[in-house]
Amino acid sequence: MLHVFKFGGASVKDAPAVRNVSTILRSFIDKKDKLVIVVSAMGKTTNHLEDIFKAAKSKPKHEKNDEFEQILKQIKDYHYALADELFDGEREKIVYKILQKYIFQLSATLKDDEPNWDKHYDQVICFGELMSSAIVSEYLKMQHEDKCLWVDARRFVQTNERWREGQIDWEWSEQLIRAELLPMLEQRFVLTQGFIGGTIGGKTTTLGREGSDFTAAVFAYCLQADGVTIWKDVSGILNADPKRIKNTRLFEQISYSDAAEMTYYGATVIHPKTIRPLAAKGIPLYVRSFLNADVEGTRIGNFDTQPSIPSIIVKANQHMLVFKAKDLAAINERNQLAYIHSELNRYTIKINLLQVSATSFSVCTDNDERKLASLKESLSTDFELSVLDNLELITIKNYDTETLKNFTGLGNALVAQRSEDIFQVVVRK
Ligand code: ASP
Ligand code: MG
Repeated sequence: MLHVFKFGGASVKDAPAVRNVSTILRSFIDKKDKLVIVVSAMGKTTNHLEDIFKAAKSKPKHEKNDEFEQILKQIKDYHYALADELFDGEREKIVYKILQKYIFQLSATLKDDEPNWDKHYDQVICFGELMSSAIVSEYLKMQHEDKCLWVDARRFVQTNERWREGQIDWEWSEQLIRAELLPMLEQRFVLTQGFIGGTIGGKTTTLGREGSDFTAAVFAYCLQADGVTIWKDVSGILNADPKRIKNTRLFEQISYSDAAEMTYYGATVIHPKTIRPLAAKGIPLYVRSFLNADVEGTRIGNFDTQPSIPSIIVKANQHMLVFKAKDLAAINERNQLAYIHSELNRYTIKINLLQVSATSFSVCTDNDERKLASLKESLSTDFELSVLDNLELITIKNYDTETLKNFTGLGNALVAQRSEDIFQVVVRK
């Protein structure tokens, strides 16, 4: 059997977590399964890298930058402390050396004169995955007779130069993975990074935040794997977020299309891009708990979703953009709609919910200040644009009267829409 496993930031956030990953892998290694293991940056490292990137950009590099130094130290100390706990002796020295190299490269890259913000971001943000995979692979080598092979995902996951949102060159990636990575799996198992890819010019790209699940799907697709497992801190896909709603239910199985729909509405258990490549080759996707590896979790595949219980999905951190034509023209005159759409597309602003009235066009979208600022500027000649922030988009799929009762007539609702099986409402937080 050939499996692709993905371990996210929470599953490698400290030394006990890394040890737990090794324990989970044991039975698969003993069975001589072929394994490709994809890891994310440890804990909240990617957020810290985003912070340090902003701090570096905020001041000319010859000026003293305390914030920069402080975050760099924090990132460094965190990884060193973790390594200290996991290793001793020679192996510890090796790991320290690797980390030292990455910290040095990170600091140098942050100081580069790269005028393209997004391109620079990708060159910086990849260090979380690089450091994490170095630590985890050394630990797995130690525990599993040197059977673990570290590989650089950027050599295999080839993308175009769409920085921060790299698009996969499927043909090229598949060729590289089949020709070079597949033979590696004969003797050893492979450990690599999620989220990062490489361009033909040797630059790093990233696949969008939380993109490691997608990386797992890319490897699985190219290797025609028997399955992908995403190891999470929840026991599978639930019909609602247990932090918000009591009496949640776990789906044992779910169809690709239902899973895709749920991620589209904001279910964060799996990255939205993960499902398509797997569905294309009929590769099952398992969502299981790394905290409770005996539980089967959820299977996603060509199965029927179980009894259509209502699912409640909350997309947080939403903005509502309201466009009004300046000259009071009806919004659907003179191709205004097409024009707004094309500008949203240009800045890759995704529409999560849409409402058109006689004179306005309202879009509920994810909060991304930089994209919104660019959009505002480009549309300001023709439209008044107002922005409402701090919103949530709540979607109920397969609603029933009981669930609906709790969500209709909410005092803080801005927009509500209802179709045959979907009810959506945008609320102020
Ligand atoms: N480390 C990246 C992030 O935090 C990718 C991932 O975790 O999937 O967004
Ligand atoms: Mg030590």
